[in-house]
Amino acid sequence: MQGVWAWRACYLRPYAGVSRRLISGSARLRTPQPPGNLRRTRNIGIIAHIDAGKTTTTERMLYYSGYTRRIGDVDEGSTVTDFLPAERARGITIQSAAITFHWPPSQDPSNIKPNITSSGIPSVSGSSVIAPRSAISHNINLIDTPGHADFTFEVLRSLRILDGAVCILDGVAGVEAQTEKVWTQADHYKIPRIVYVNKLDRDGAAFAMTVKEVGVRLHGWPAVCQIPWWKNGKGRLIGVGDIVGLRGFLWEEGGDGKAVRVVNLEELEEIDQAFAAEIKKARTALVEVLSEYDDVMVENFLEHDENHTAIPGIQITAALRRCVLQSPQIIIPVFAGASFRNIGVQPLLDAVVDLLPSPEERPDTEISIGDRRGTLRELLTGKLAMPQLSTDADGRHKKVAKHHAPSIQNLQGCALAFKVVNDPKRGVLVYVRVYSGSIEKSISLFNTNLNVAEKAPCLLKMYASDAVEVDSIPTGQIGVIVGLKYARTGDTLISYSGANPKTGPPAPLNTLQLRPIAVPPPVFFTSVEPNSLSEEKRVLDSLSLLLREDPSLQVSVDNESGQTHLAGMGELHLEIARDRLLEDFKAKATTGKIEISYREAITTPSELFTKELGRDVAGKYARASCTASVSPLGETTSQVHADNQHQTTLPMGSNKLIIHHPTITKAGLPITSDQPPLPPHLPFSAIISALQAGVSAALARGPQHGFAVQEAQLDIHFDPSSHVFAETTSAALSTVTRQAIQAALKDAAEKGGSVLVEPVMLATISANESSLGSVVHDISSARGGQVVSLDGDGAIDSDSASSISQDQDDLPIVNADRIYTPPDPFQNSSAGQEYAATDRQRQITARVPLKEMVGYLNHLRSLTGGRGTFVMTVDGFERMSSHRQKEVLNEMRGEVV
Ligand code: GDP
Repeated sequence: MQGVWAWRACYLRPYAGVSRRLISGSARLRTPQPPGNLRRTRNIGIIAHIDAGKTTTTERMLYYSGYTRRIGDVDEGSTVTDFLPAERARGITIQSAAITFHWPPSQDPSNIKPNITSSGIPSVSGSSVIAPRSAISHNINLIDTPGHADFTFEVLRSLRILDGAVCILDGVAGVEAQTEKVWTQADHYKIPRIVYVNKLDRDGAAFAMTVKEVGVRLHGWPAVCQIPWWKNGKGRLIGVGDIVGLRGFLWEEGGDGKAVRVVNLEELEEIDQAFAAEIKKARTALVEVLSEYDDVMVENFLEHDENHTAIPGIQITAALRRCVLQSPQIIIPVFAGASFRNIGVQPLLDAVVDLLPSPEERPDTEISIGDRRGTLRELLTGKLAMPQLSTDADGRHKKVAKHHAPSIQNLQGCALAFKVVNDPKRGVLVYVRVYSGSIEKSISLFNTNLNVAEKAPCLLKMYASDAVEVDSIPTGQIGVIVGLKYARTGDTLISYSGANPKTGPPAPLNTLQLRPIAVPPPVFFTSVEPNSLSEEKRVLDSLSLLLREDPSLQVSVDNESGQTHLAGMGELHLEIARDRLLEDFKAKATTGKIEISYREAITTPSELFTKELGRDVAGKYARASCTASVSPLGETTSQVHADNQHQTTLPMGSNKLIIHHPTITKAGLPITSDQPPLPPHLPFSAIISALQAGVSAALARGPQHGFAVQEAQLDIHFDPSSHVFAETTSAALSTVTRQAIQAALKDAAEKGGSVLVEPVMLATISANESSLGSVVHDISSARGGQVVSLDGDGAIDSDSASSISQDQDDLPIVNADRIYTPPDPFQNSSAGQEYAATDRQRQITARVPLKEMVGYLNHLRSLTGGRGTFVMTVDGFERMSSHRQKEVLNEMRGEVV
């Protein structure tokens, strides 16, 4: 149909009874929820390398969907998504703001008429060419994922709640290192993705090269759904060719992009024959690539007499959707545009609605409950057998029986707090995704990570920096809870009928957790010193807020110096946290230099040490005792009880704590009836927490160099008759445990010394071909690194090496020569050839000690004429050679002097 924008059935159904109004600053309005219909919801994220145009594209999306009145300008720092001052100053997206909007906007379609100018190119002018929307409006929740490598945890945290993602590529730079990394992580979470090649207006834009890189580097077959429309094949970008709908979309130069001219194929043949021919060629390629992975497409092809262009667009869209939803995803739909020039964003939004899944179409959510792992649906339908405790007649011994826990039936809502943000105007906002049931206003929510219950006083839907108050957040939706005091990023929140708000839901429901993710170890730290004693509380409060926002930060207090340390994943990560603390939270404190978090490891086992405490603590007599020893992990020293019914093992970072309790069971019950039970005020769970707290305090400062202890086994020999008394408190038990472990660590270090352990990074460096040699030489000789692979051959991402490489095994090896691409404008020019020859980006993956990578970006830039970039993640911690240890210690001492 000539002049019609989209390809769907042409009817509109605005939300019944919804009169949405946006309010700024505060949440006062109460409006009905947007449609609860899950099928019409898309929870999507944008993943991209920094600077690819995420913010610019998001701004356009909000503008075209009617949620902002003017297009924000990233370069002026006025955009709505990057709303933290720290982000504005740096021009990068750090915070995953979740924004809700509707696409297509609920408005009546209007007809447009083609309007041909004398030059032959259809012109775009006036109201007659406002693009109509011709489909049902969808509720889009957009989660903006961070683009900087220092925020890997943030990326993972936001990836796990996404149902689909748009990957934005810079059409000049192609597939960059960070994109490849996040893409692999998205593979791991099985998130369906489409690619948008942005910045095609720029000189040197290379759509063809980028599409080939999508195939080779992202390990999938690109399905080119759009091709760039360059004026006369070589000039400026004026629009895109829609391969699915066999037509051209033309944007007015310099306009706000709302007016889009739709040019059908016959018309295109008259005005730009070469472009029309390319669209047909691209259609053939699209049908062929889809036919390889979708049987229905083959049938459609045969039904249409093997005529690639005769297949209706709607059938192509359906095939694309089926392929995108396949796992592993082998077909990667590719779209084109230049968001900054307002070209390509609306059809990209159509693709989000058409190709990415609704929450209903996603695999069931992974959970853990008690010591079981499974899916939420399995749990709710009773398919996940739960261990339950049963009591013997004497009331002491308990044994384990397996059956479905009745408490599950009372689960009313289950949500994941995926982001906590302290908003200066509204207070702490907890962004949640609801996975089951709904979260109702004023309901009591139980936090299964922290074991606390708290009320949800106010619920909001966020529209950029505007908010609408709602009464409930239903399954599959994203919303905000205001007024929670404890919930942190990553916590699971449940509501439960009949729960006692004080004790929370009964076991095992109180242990239900949604897809827990491991927080990577921090590798940098800085000291934080309150400016005065009176500021101390405020500084500590701000630090705990910072930790609620970002659990990949860590705060520890050095018992000896009394100094507070803030540790994080990277220099930029800590810089941002520091700015947030000092500038946004206005904490009056001084921070030290950002330093590497070395660790130390003992090399010899210690003797067994017993420490006792019997003194007044806060005016009350407290008594406790602890017996402990330490040894290098992996070396069995003290007699470990083979009977693990009487032994509790707890991982503590890279260390292992083994609590031997030969006289009591794991449930804390005496094994013989003549033994006294534990005091009622100290159940076994509280004792374990107290021991853990004491151990963790002792491990924070190593015995020889003051760095945190790594790779140690801590054995605590716990016998209630000698370690717990009527006057024992949790605090006393922690203190005495810390003392016993410290004494054991000191003994081990005196006997055999300790070695320094340093973080080693897996760095992925992108450099142009001509500087490859000097970059590799610098890494391997000057920095003591080890090149693992070139251009991704055999490289393994350390985040979850085994599972990710397994995921990758399922992906095809893509031969770039078999990928269809339209010609790039420079391909026939000498400038283009020169660009292609010298600008080929190569990727080096190397393991390098973190110390050698401090300040590396500047050096890399000087080696590569400013073009090199790199990303890195912690690959592990390695013991230093004695020579290197001496060098590093000398350097540290030198700095102190
Ligand atoms: P982000 O870091 O991915 O959020 O990227 P931004 O949206 O902040 O964009 C980075 C820079 O690229 C800004 O200076 C934008 O103006 C610019 N930019 C974004 N999209 C385009 C585009 O389509 N064409 C051109 N020429 N520049 C763009």
